[in-house]
Amino acid sequence: MALARVARNGLRRSGGVGGGNTTERNIFFERLSGSLEKINVHSNLTSLSTIKGLNHMNFWSRGIRTTPPYQFPLAERLVETESESEHDEPRYPGLEATKPGEKPRVVVLGTGWAACRFLNGLDTKAYDVVCISPRNHMVFTPLLASTCVGTLEFRSVSEPVSRIQSALATSPNSYFYLASCIGVDTNKHEVYCETMSNGGLPHEPYQFKVAYDKLVIAAGAEPLTFGIKGVKENAYFLREVNHAQEIRKKLLLNLMLSENPGFLVAKLNYSLTIEFVIAGISEEEKSRLLHCVIIGGGPTGVEFSGELSDFIMRDVRERYSQVKDYIKVTLIEANEILSSFDVGLRQYATNHLRKSGVQLMRGVVKEVHPKKIILSDGTDVPYGLLVWSTGVGPSQFIKSLNLPKSPGGRIGIDEWLRVPSVEDVFALGDCAGFLEQTGKPVLPALAQVAERQGKYLVEVFNRMAKEDGGKAFSVKDMSLGDPFVYKHLGSMASVGRYKALVDLRQSKDAQGISLAGFISWLIWRSAYLTRVVSWRNRFYVAVNWATTLVFGRDDSRIG
Ligand SMILES: Cc1cc2nc3c(=O)[nH]c(=O)nc-3n(C[C@H](O)[C@H](O)[C@H](O)COP(=O)(O)OP(=O)(O)OC[C@H]3O[C@@H](n4cnc5c(N)ncnc54)[C@H](O)[C@@H]3O)c2cc1C
Repeated sequence: MALARVARNGLRRSGGVGGGNTTERNIFFERLSGSLEKINVHSNLTSLSTIKGLNHMNFWSRGIRTTPPYQFPLAERLVETESESEHDEPRYPGLEATKPGEKPRVVVLGTGWAACRFLNGLDTKAYDVVCISPRNHMVFTPLLASTCVGTLEFRSVSEPVSRIQSALATSPNSYFYLASCIGVDTNKHEVYCETMSNGGLPHEPYQFKVAYDKLVIAAGAEPLTFGIKGVKENAYFLREVNHAQEIRKKLLLNLMLSENPGFLVAKLNYSLTIEFVIAGISEEEKSRLLHCVIIGGGPTGVEFSGELSDFIMRDVRERYSQVKDYIKVTLIEANEILSSFDVGLRQYATNHLRKSGVQLMRGVVKEVHPKKIILSDGTDVPYGLLVWSTGVGPSQFIKSLNLPKSPGGRIGIDEWLRVPSVEDVFALGDCAGFLEQTGKPVLPALAQVAERQGKYLVEVFNRMAKEDGGKAFSVKDMSLGDPFVYKHLGSMASVGRYKALVDLRQSKDAQGISLAGFISWLIWRSAYLTRVVSWRNRFYVAVNWATTLVFGRDDSRIG
């Protein structure tokens, strides 16, 4: 108990202290280590999870609306310490609730499309902002597939969050924390977070809390695997920059391995003499290594197949001429590819992909093994690279939150993106869906939905601040303005070799413009170039495209 109190007092930040951000943060951490040294129990941050652990269970057992503790990754460790602390209050390091006279604090979970659009427009004269996410950048997902084969560089599609909202780097009471949120207490207005584990830091991941006046949950979704055996262990997903890096490395590794010469093996022959023969990668093994299989014929699967076929047609043929005839791309889909596009555009894409050498297969995956997949009709498909792109669903974190849910298990929201039945909590993007009682459909998991929700919500927040509704429990009967209305602007997908599909209709059955071919590809490229978040990245993307056009793709395997 004493240990916990000393640590917490040491950690509590004086909210309105001026001065530079760095100084403030240093004071925060100096106090932390100072307190811990004084009590001479632990000498570094490792102790934080233990401090919190001393009191955790008592907190969770008081019937507060929260995520059940057994769903927390560190639950076991916490349970062990329960008996030591039955009557203690929980002690978390972190940020305490704001005091009267201080700016209200908005806590934003995530650095994706929704969160970043929100952060970008937030009036930081009216609010302090704390952004918590396991990554410190936004990913421009529509161009992510291009980075897997070197058409674009990784940095061209990632935007540091501190450039999107500069207050996170410069304002004394605004912070970015590289951590995952693991629980929310909507009554106490607190979120509980765990730091990242693989950052090479000298201590174990630990947990901390951040009190909020307003909470914005924009934590995205996770790839759907439908519980199919072996997917998580063997397939690559394509959602983050590090996924694209892994795919690129694996693709280039397979290309290089298949070019390697065989090796000598000693063989004892009938005359009892030793003979050396060349062994190595068989023809069959070469074909397997160079078989790239994509599961899922949605826009992401199709765009990735198109990028791969471009890479093969132009770069592999020139630079890996010895193995060029072995490399193959197969796209497996249970139904139609690009089912959200109309039949004419679908047909165009099918013909174009076939012409580009992509094999289209109908099938349902039953099991995934390290070197082959098995389809439900019993067909074996050997592969060297497997990319899984079958859509997204709610993440474990979203599922674990004790909040109302929309059909499909996302966080349930009303037309103002509020989570009803709890105060000051908003959700948007792929992790949120309209509640059934709103009579509105759950919107598709798209960047254009997430971005527009972010833009809408920030207007609501800035209006609330003007009317003194920024603090916790202060909105009361305040009008939030017009509800959010989504108007679909259309869909686009590139299919490789300077061709794309553009469908500007609100739905595939509505009237409007839809076209496919080179002009569509120009529209696709121009549209995304203008959507790239910063001038810096727009410049990178344009230069990368020009470099690829003139010199071909970069196929260095680094790391
Ligand atoms: C390859 C690819 C191509 C795409 N192309 C298009 C396209 O062309 N057009 C289009 O409209 N849409 C496209 N999409 C879909 C679009 O990217 C998503 O709909 C969009 O990213 C959703 O935005 P979001 O903010 O809800 O979630 P995300 O952008 O996924 O961001 C979620 C954020 O939450 C963070 N997070 C996760 N868990 C936690 C936690 N526990 N605590 C704190 N933070 C957490 C994540 O690290 C991330 O920063 C594409 C998606 C992919 C993967």
